[in-house]
Amino acid sequence: MKLFNTLTQSLEEFVPIDDNVVRIYVCGVTPYDTTHLGHAFTYVSFDTLIRYLEFCGRTVNYVQNVTDIDDDVLRKAKELGMAWDELVRRETERYLNDMDALNVRRPNVYARATAEIPTMIEITQTLLARGYAYESGGFVFFSVKQDHEFGIMARAIGLNDYHAMLTIANERGNFPEDPRKRDPLDFVLWQAQAPGEPAWPSPWGPGRPGWHIECSAMSMRYLGPQIDIHGGGADLAFPHHTCEIAQSEHFTEKPPFSRCWMHTGMVYQGGEKMSKSLGNLTLVSNLLKDYSADAIRITLQNHHYRYPWECFPEDLEVATETVALFQQVRTMVGTQSDGEDVMLRDQFVAAMDNDLNTPQALLLLRQAAEAAMANHDVNSGAEILGLVRVLGLQV
Ligand SMILES: [Zn+2]
Repeated sequence: MKLFNTLTQSLEEFVPIDDNVVRIYVCGVTPYDTTHLGHAFTYVSFDTLIRYLEFCGRTVNYVQNVTDIDDDVLRKAKELGMAWDELVRRETERYLNDMDALNVRRPNVYARATAEIPTMIEITQTLLARGYAYESGGFVFFSVKQDHEFGIMARAIGLNDYHAMLTIANERGNFPEDPRKRDPLDFVLWQAQAPGEPAWPSPWGPGRPGWHIECSAMSMRYLGPQIDIHGGGADLAFPHHTCEIAQSEHFTEKPPFSRCWMHTGMVYQGGEKMSKSLGNLTLVSNLLKDYSADAIRITLQNHHYRYPWECFPEDLEVATETVALFQQVRTMVGTQSDGEDVMLRDQFVAAMDNDLNTPQALLLLRQAAEAAMANHDVNSGAEILGLVRVLGLQV
Protein backbone atom coordinates (compact mmCIF):
# COMPACT_ATOMS: atom_id res chain seq x y z
CA MET A 1 0.00 0.00 0.00
CA LYS A 2 1.20 3.50 -0.78
CA LEU A 3 0.37 6.47 1.44
CA PHE A 4 1.23 10.13 0.98
CA ASN A 5 3.60 11.33 3.69
CA THR A 6 3.22 15.06 4.35
CA LEU A 7 6.75 15.19 5.73
CA THR A 8 8.38 13.97 2.51
CA GLN A 9 5.60 15.21 0.20
CA SER A 10 5.66 11.89 -1.59
CA LEU A 11 3.81 8.64 -1.94
CA GLU A 12 5.64 6.02 0.08
CA GLU A 13 5.23 2.29 0.42
CA PHE A 14 3.59 1.72 3.79
CA VAL A 15 5.76 -0.59 5.88
CA PRO A 16 4.86 -0.75 9.57
CA ILE A 17 7.66 -0.79 12.15
CA ASP A 18 6.25 -3.96 13.66
CA ASP A 19 4.79 -6.69 11.42
CA ASN A 20 2.21 -7.60 14.02
CA VAL A 21 0.59 -4.29 14.77
CA VAL A 22 0.12 -0.94 13.06
CA ARG A 23 0.32 1.98 15.47
CA ILE A 24 -1.84 4.97 14.59
CA TYR A 25 -2.42 8.20 16.48
CA VAL A 26 -4.96 10.76 15.30
CA CYS A 27 -5.39 14.16 16.95
CA GLY A 28 -8.85 14.35 18.44
CA VAL A 29 -11.31 17.11 19.16
CA THR A 30 -11.42 19.90 21.70
CA PRO A 31 -14.89 19.26 23.08
CA TYR A 32 -16.44 22.69 23.43
CA ASP A 33 -18.75 22.70 20.43
CA THR A 34 -20.59 20.21 18.29
CA THR A 35 -19.19 18.00 15.57
CA HIS A 36 -19.24 19.39 12.04
CA LEU A 37 -18.60 17.88 8.64
CA GLY A 38 -14.90 18.83 8.77
CA HIS A 39 -14.44 16.66 11.88
CA ALA A 40 -16.45 13.87 10.26
CA PHE A 41 -14.23 13.97 7.16
CA THR A 42 -11.10 13.44 9.26
CA TYR A 43 -12.44 10.67 11.49
CA VAL A 44 -14.33 8.81 8.75
CA SER A 45 -11.16 8.92 6.62
CA PHE A 46 -9.03 7.36 9.37
CA ASP A 47 -11.79 4.90 10.26
CA THR A 48 -11.80 3.82 6.60
CA LEU A 49 -8.01 3.46 6.62
CA ILE A 50 -8.12 1.28 9.73
CA ARG A 51 -10.94 -0.90 8.40
CA TYR A 52 -8.99 -1.35 5.18
CA LEU A 53 -5.76 -2.26 6.99
CA GLU A 54 -7.72 -4.87 8.93
CA PHE A 55 -9.25 -6.19 5.71
CA CYS A 56 -5.63 -6.62 4.52
CA GLY A 57 -4.90 -8.75 7.59
CA ARG A 58 -3.28 -6.11 9.81
CA THR A 59 -3.94 -5.55 13.49
CA VAL A 60 -4.23 -1.88 14.35
CA ASN A 61 -3.69 -0.13 17.65
CA TYR A 62 -5.44 3.22 17.33
CA VAL A 63 -5.15 6.04 19.83
CA GLN A 64 -7.02 9.32 19.76
CA ASN A 65 -6.97 12.12 22.30
CA VAL A 66 -9.51 14.53 23.63
CA THR A 67 -8.18 17.98 24.52
CA ASP A 68 -10.28 18.32 27.64
CA ILE A 69 -8.55 21.44 28.95
CA ASP A 70 -7.86 24.37 26.68
CA ASP A 71 -8.46 28.14 26.29
CA ASP A 72 -11.48 27.46 24.06
CA VAL A 73 -13.03 25.12 26.63
CA LEU A 74 -12.58 27.66 29.44
CA ARG A 75 -13.88 30.57 27.35
CA LYS A 76 -16.94 28.68 26.14
CA ALA A 77 -17.74 27.35 29.63
CA LYS A 78 -17.64 30.92 30.93
CA GLU A 79 -19.95 32.12 28.15
CA LEU A 80 -22.43 29.37 28.95
CA GLY A 81 -22.08 29.77 32.71
CA MET A 82 -21.16 26.10 32.96
CA ALA A 83 -18.40 24.27 34.80
CA TRP A 84 -15.62 23.56 32.27
CA ASP A 85 -15.56 19.85 33.05
CA GLU A 86 -19.32 19.64 32.67
CA LEU A 87 -19.06 21.24 29.22
CA VAL A 88 -16.29 18.79 28.30
CA ARG A 89 -18.37 15.81 29.41
CA ARG A 90 -21.41 16.97 27.45
CA GLU A 91 -19.54 17.79 24.25
CA THR A 92 -17.37 14.65 24.36
CA GLU A 93 -20.52 12.59 24.62
CA ARG A 94 -22.08 14.45 21.68
CA TYR A 95 -18.98 13.93 19.58
CA LEU A 96 -18.86 10.20 20.37
CA ASN A 97 -22.58 9.86 19.63
CA ASP A 98 -22.14 11.58 16.25
CA MET A 99 -19.20 9.31 15.41
CA ASP A 100 -21.10 6.20 16.55
CA ALA A 101 -23.99 7.26 14.31
CA LEU A 102 -21.60 7.47 11.34
CA ASN A 103 -20.32 3.97 12.17
CA VAL A 104 -16.88 5.33 13.08
CA ARG A 105 -15.44 2.76 15.44
CA ARG A 106 -13.97 4.02 18.68
CA PRO A 107 -10.20 4.01 19.08
CA ASN A 108 -8.49 1.38 21.23
CA VAL A 109 -7.52 4.17 23.61
CA TYR A 110 -9.43 7.43 23.89
CA ALA A 111 -7.03 9.43 26.05
CA ARG A 112 -7.99 12.53 28.02
CA ALA A 113 -5.34 15.24 28.34
CA THR A 114 -6.10 15.91 32.01
CA ALA A 115 -5.48 12.23 32.84
CA GLU A 116 -2.00 12.27 31.28
CA ILE A 117 -0.37 15.25 32.96
CA PRO A 118 2.43 13.30 34.72
CA THR A 119 3.75 12.14 31.32
CA MET A 120 3.67 15.72 30.01
CA ILE A 121 5.59 16.92 33.06
CA GLU A 122 8.18 14.20 32.56
CA ILE A 123 8.77 15.21 28.93
CA THR A 124 8.96 18.89 29.89
CA GLN A 125 11.52 18.15 32.62
CA THR A 126 13.69 16.21 30.20
CA LEU A 127 13.54 18.99 27.59
CA LEU A 128 14.54 21.51 30.29
CA ALA A 129 17.44 19.32 31.39
CA ARG A 130 18.69 19.03 27.80
CA GLY A 131 18.48 22.77 27.15
CA TYR A 132 15.60 22.67 24.66
CA ALA A 133 13.23 24.45 27.01
CA TYR A 134 13.33 27.24 29.55
CA GLU A 135 11.23 28.35 32.47
CA SER A 136 9.89 31.86 32.76
CA GLY A 137 7.41 33.04 35.38
CA GLY A 138 5.73 29.70 35.98
CA PHE A 139 5.64 28.98 32.23
CA VAL A 140 7.88 26.56 30.38
CA PHE A 141 8.56 27.25 26.70
CA PHE A 142 10.18 25.15 24.02
CA SER A 143 13.09 27.12 22.59
CA VAL A 144 12.94 26.90 18.82
CA LYS A 145 16.39 28.49 18.44
CA GLN A 146 17.95 25.56 20.31
CA ASP A 147 16.51 23.14 17.79
CA HIS A 148 18.35 23.45 14.49
CA GLU A 149 15.89 21.14 12.79
CA PHE A 150 12.79 22.97 13.97
CA GLY A 151 10.21 23.38 11.26
CA ILE A 152 10.89 20.38 9.08
CA MET A 153 7.16 19.77 8.69
CA ALA A 154 6.49 23.48 8.18
CA ARG A 155 8.98 23.61 5.30
CA ALA A 156 7.42 20.50 3.79
CA ILE A 157 4.09 22.33 3.49
CA GLY A 158 5.67 25.45 2.04
CA LEU A 159 6.40 27.62 5.08
CA ASN A 160 9.96 28.14 4.03
CA ASP A 161 11.34 30.54 6.55
CA TYR A 162 11.03 31.78 10.07
CA HIS A 163 8.69 34.65 9.18
CA ALA A 164 6.32 32.46 7.21
CA MET A 165 6.09 30.15 10.23
CA LEU A 166 5.66 33.02 12.65
CA THR A 167 2.79 34.54 10.64
CA ILE A 168 0.80 31.30 10.65
CA ALA A 169 1.65 30.47 14.27
CA ASN A 170 0.42 33.89 15.35
CA GLU A 171 -2.84 33.50 13.45
CA ARG A 172 -3.35 30.30 15.40
CA GLY A 173 -2.90 31.71 18.88
CA ASN A 174 0.84 31.63 19.48
CA PHE A 175 0.84 34.82 21.64
CA PRO A 176 3.98 36.30 20.03
CA GLU A 177 3.99 39.35 22.32
CA ASP A 178 4.28 37.28 25.50
CA PRO A 179 7.19 39.02 27.29
CA ARG A 180 8.18 35.78 28.97
CA LYS A 181 9.27 34.35 25.63
CA ARG A 182 12.82 34.57 24.33
CA ASP A 183 11.65 34.14 20.76
CA PRO A 184 8.14 34.87 19.42
CA LEU A 185 7.99 31.43 17.81
CA ASP A 186 8.69 29.59 21.09
CA PHE A 187 5.69 27.57 22.20
CA VAL A 188 4.21 26.67 25.56
CA LEU A 189 4.95 23.33 27.20
CA TRP A 190 3.47 24.34 30.54
CA GLN A 191 1.49 27.42 31.47
CA ALA A 192 1.02 28.98 34.90
CA GLN A 193 -2.43 29.10 36.42
CA ALA A 194 -4.42 32.22 35.56
CA PRO A 195 -6.84 33.56 38.19
CA GLY A 196 -9.99 31.47 38.36
CA GLU A 197 -8.67 28.75 36.04
CA PRO A 198 -8.28 25.08 36.95
CA ALA A 199 -4.73 23.95 37.67
CA TRP A 200 -2.62 20.91 38.33
CA PRO A 201 0.57 20.79 40.45
CA SER A 202 3.93 20.83 38.67
CA PRO A 203 7.60 21.52 39.49
CA TRP A 204 6.98 25.06 38.11
CA GLY A 205 3.94 25.75 40.22
CA PRO A 206 0.25 25.11 39.56
CA GLY A 207 -0.87 25.34 35.95
CA ARG A 208 -1.83 23.30 32.94
CA PRO A 209 -0.08 21.81 29.92
CA GLY A 210 0.25 23.45 26.52
CA TRP A 211 -1.70 21.91 23.68
CA HIS A 212 1.13 20.40 21.61
CA ILE A 213 2.76 18.47 24.48
CA GLU A 214 -0.48 16.63 25.08
CA CYS A 215 -0.36 14.62 21.85
CA SER A 216 3.34 13.81 22.19
CA ALA A 217 2.71 12.48 25.68
CA MET A 218 -0.32 10.38 24.80
CA SER A 219 1.17 8.98 21.61
CA MET A 220 4.35 7.91 23.38
CA ARG A 221 2.58 6.60 26.45
CA TYR A 222 0.17 4.33 24.57
CA LEU A 223 2.06 3.55 21.37
CA GLY A 224 5.77 3.90 22.24
CA PRO A 225 8.51 6.27 21.03
CA GLN A 226 7.88 5.59 17.35
CA ILE A 227 4.64 5.03 15.52
CA ASP A 228 3.59 4.26 11.97
CA ILE A 229 1.01 6.95 11.24
CA HIS A 230 0.20 10.24 12.92
CA GLY A 231 -2.80 11.98 11.49
CA GLY A 232 -5.14 14.92 11.70
CA GLY A 233 -6.64 17.76 9.72
CA ALA A 234 -4.37 19.67 7.32
CA ASP A 235 -4.43 22.73 9.60
CA LEU A 236 -2.57 20.70 12.25
CA ALA A 237 0.60 20.18 10.18
CA PHE A 238 1.80 23.54 11.44
CA PRO A 239 2.23 24.51 14.17
CA HIS A 240 0.78 21.54 16.07
CA HIS A 241 2.55 18.62 14.39
CA THR A 242 5.72 20.63 13.79
CA CYS A 243 5.91 21.27 17.54
CA GLU A 244 5.06 17.66 18.35
CA ILE A 245 7.98 16.44 16.24
CA ALA A 246 10.42 18.87 17.88
CA GLN A 247 9.55 18.07 21.46
CA SER A 248 9.07 14.31 20.96
CA GLU A 249 12.28 13.68 19.07
CA HIS A 250 14.37 15.69 21.53
CA PHE A 251 12.75 13.72 24.33
CA THR A 252 13.19 10.23 22.87
CA GLU A 253 16.36 11.06 20.91
CA LYS A 254 15.04 8.41 18.58
CA PRO A 255 13.59 9.91 15.40
CA PRO A 256 11.28 9.62 13.65
CA PHE A 257 8.42 10.17 16.09
CA SER A 258 6.10 9.00 13.32
CA ARG A 259 7.05 7.32 10.05
CA CYS A 260 4.16 8.71 8.08
CA TRP A 261 2.17 11.92 8.59
CA MET A 262 -1.29 11.94 7.04
CA HIS A 263 -3.44 15.06 6.79
CA THR A 264 -7.03 15.40 5.71
CA GLY A 265 -8.17 18.27 3.50
CA MET A 266 -10.30 21.09 4.85
CA VAL A 267 -14.03 21.12 4.13
CA TYR A 268 -15.51 24.32 2.70
CA GLN A 269 -18.97 25.77 2.85
CA GLY A 270 -20.06 28.79 0.85
CA GLY A 271 -16.54 29.17 -0.52
CA GLU A 272 -14.95 29.45 2.94
CA LYS A 273 -13.29 26.94 5.21
CA MET A 274 -15.92 25.52 7.54
CA SER A 275 -15.23 27.12 10.89
CA LYS A 276 -16.95 28.24 13.98
CA SER A 277 -15.77 31.82 13.65
CA LEU A 278 -17.37 32.12 10.20
CA GLY A 279 -20.55 30.45 11.40
CA ASN A 280 -20.75 28.25 8.29
CA LEU A 281 -20.82 24.90 10.04
CA THR A 282 -22.69 21.87 8.77
CA LEU A 283 -23.33 19.89 11.93
CA VAL A 284 -23.31 16.12 11.70
CA SER A 285 -26.30 15.89 14.06
CA ASN A 286 -28.33 18.10 11.67
CA LEU A 287 -27.31 16.15 8.58
CA LEU A 288 -28.39 12.92 10.27
CA LYS A 289 -31.94 14.29 10.47
CA ASP A 290 -32.18 14.32 6.66
CA TYR A 291 -29.72 11.70 5.42
CA SER A 292 -28.71 8.20 6.39
CA ALA A 293 -25.33 7.54 7.98
CA ASP A 294 -24.35 5.58 4.86
CA ALA A 295 -25.23 8.53 2.61
CA ILE A 296 -23.10 10.86 4.73
CA ARG A 297 -20.18 8.41 4.76
CA ILE A 298 -20.38 7.98 1.00
CA THR A 299 -20.47 11.77 0.54
CA LEU A 300 -17.25 12.01 2.53
CA GLN A 301 -15.61 9.01 0.84
CA ASN A 302 -16.48 10.38 -2.60
CA HIS A 303 -13.70 12.90 -1.88
CA HIS A 304 -10.10 11.85 -1.57
CA TYR A 305 -9.03 12.37 2.05
CA ARG A 306 -6.10 14.60 1.17
CA TYR A 307 -7.86 17.35 -0.80
CA PRO A 308 -10.02 20.26 0.26
CA TRP A 309 -13.60 20.15 -0.98
CA GLU A 310 -16.86 21.94 -0.67
CA CYS A 311 -20.03 20.16 0.37
CA PHE A 312 -23.16 20.77 -1.72
CA PRO A 313 -26.62 19.31 -0.98
CA GLU A 314 -26.52 17.55 -4.38
CA ASP A 315 -23.56 15.48 -3.13
CA LEU A 316 -25.76 14.01 -0.43
CA GLU A 317 -28.57 13.32 -2.90
CA VAL A 318 -26.17 11.46 -5.21
CA ALA A 319 -24.84 9.47 -2.25
CA THR A 320 -28.40 8.58 -1.23
CA GLU A 321 -28.92 7.11 -4.72
CA THR A 322 -25.74 5.06 -4.28
CA VAL A 323 -27.07 3.71 -0.97
CA ALA A 324 -30.31 2.71 -2.74
CA LEU A 325 -28.29 0.90 -5.42
CA PHE A 326 -26.32 -1.06 -2.81
CA GLN A 327 -29.60 -1.90 -1.06
CA GLN A 328 -30.93 -3.37 -4.32
CA VAL A 329 -27.81 -5.53 -4.47
CA ARG A 330 -28.41 -6.67 -0.91
CA THR A 331 -32.00 -7.63 -1.74
CA MET A 332 -30.84 -9.56 -4.80
CA VAL A 333 -28.10 -11.38 -2.90
CA GLY A 334 -30.46 -12.29 -0.07
CA THR A 335 -28.91 -14.73 2.36
CA GLN A 336 -26.13 -15.89 0.06
CA SER A 337 -22.81 -14.65 1.36
CA ASP A 338 -20.16 -16.82 -0.26
CA GLY A 339 -20.12 -15.41 -3.78
CA GLU A 340 -16.97 -13.80 -5.07
CA ASP A 341 -15.69 -11.59 -7.83
CA VAL A 342 -11.91 -11.74 -7.79
CA MET A 343 -11.43 -9.16 -10.51
CA LEU A 344 -13.56 -6.61 -8.68
CA ARG A 345 -11.73 -7.29 -5.42
CA ASP A 346 -8.35 -6.80 -7.11
CA GLN A 347 -9.49 -3.49 -8.58
CA PHE A 348 -10.84 -2.37 -5.22
CA VAL A 349 -7.54 -3.26 -3.52
CA ALA A 350 -5.56 -1.43 -6.20
CA ALA A 351 -7.63 1.71 -5.64
CA MET A 352 -7.34 1.57 -1.86
CA ASP A 353 -3.63 0.72 -2.01
CA ASN A 354 -3.16 3.92 -4.01
CA ASP A 355 -3.20 6.34 -1.06
CA LEU A 356 -6.65 5.22 0.05
CA ASN A 357 -8.41 6.28 -3.12
CA THR A 358 -11.97 5.89 -1.84
CA PRO A 359 -13.58 7.91 -4.69
CA GLN A 360 -12.13 5.39 -7.15
CA ALA A 361 -13.15 2.43 -4.95
CA LEU A 362 -16.73 3.73 -4.73
CA LEU A 363 -16.88 4.30 -8.47
CA LEU A 364 -15.81 0.69 -9.05
CA LEU A 365 -18.42 -0.59 -6.60
CA ARG A 366 -21.20 1.51 -8.17
CA GLN A 367 -20.35 0.32 -11.67
CA ALA A 368 -20.11 -3.28 -10.46
CA ALA A 369 -23.45 -2.95 -8.65
CA GLU A 370 -25.15 -1.66 -11.81
CA ALA A 371 -23.70 -4.53 -13.83
CA ALA A 372 -24.59 -7.12 -11.19
CA MET A 373 -28.19 -5.89 -11.10
CA ALA A 374 -28.45 -5.89 -14.90
CA ASN A 375 -27.08 -9.44 -15.13
CA HIS A 376 -28.61 -10.74 -11.92
CA ASP A 377 -25.08 -11.73 -10.88
CA VAL A 378 -25.49 -12.89 -7.29
CA ASN A 379 -21.83 -13.89 -6.87
CA SER A 380 -20.61 -10.46 -7.83
CA GLY A 381 -23.33 -8.95 -5.64
CA ALA A 382 -22.04 -10.84 -2.60
CA GLU A 383 -18.52 -9.55 -3.26
CA ILE A 384 -19.81 -5.99 -3.65
CA LEU A 385 -21.57 -6.16 -0.30
CA GLY A 386 -18.41 -7.45 1.38
CA LEU A 387 -16.34 -4.57 -0.04
CA VAL A 388 -18.98 -1.99 0.74
CA ARG A 389 -18.69 -3.03 4.37
CA VAL A 390 -14.90 -2.62 4.27
CA LEU A 391 -15.74 1.06 3.70
CA GLY A 392 -17.75 0.98 6.93
CA LEU A 393 -21.13 1.19 5.20
CA GLN A 394 -23.97 -0.67 6.83
CA VAL A 395 -26.09 -1.45 3.76
ZN1 LIG B 1 -2.63 16.53 18.42
